[in-house]
Amino acid sequence: MICPKCESENCHFVSQSNTTSGSFCDGCCGFIFLGPIGILCGLCGKDTDVKEFWVCDNCGCKFQRGLER
Ligand SMILES: [Zn+2]
Repeated sequence: MICPKCESENCHFVSQSNTTSGSFCDGCCGFIFLGPIGILCGLCGKDTDVKEFWVCDNCGCKFQRGLER
């Protein structure tokens, strides 16, 4: 992978998943207002919130996949 900013090949792949805190909070809020169905809505909403991107070790630029030439 080549950095689109400085064109360095010194990049590494990062995968982050944000499924715990946000979903749990939404589930609680949903339960208060909607009951058990609200929990499902809150959990389904952000279950697939996974961030995947490349980070350039040279300049610190973050970029998505698909930019390689
Ligand atoms: Zn770079």
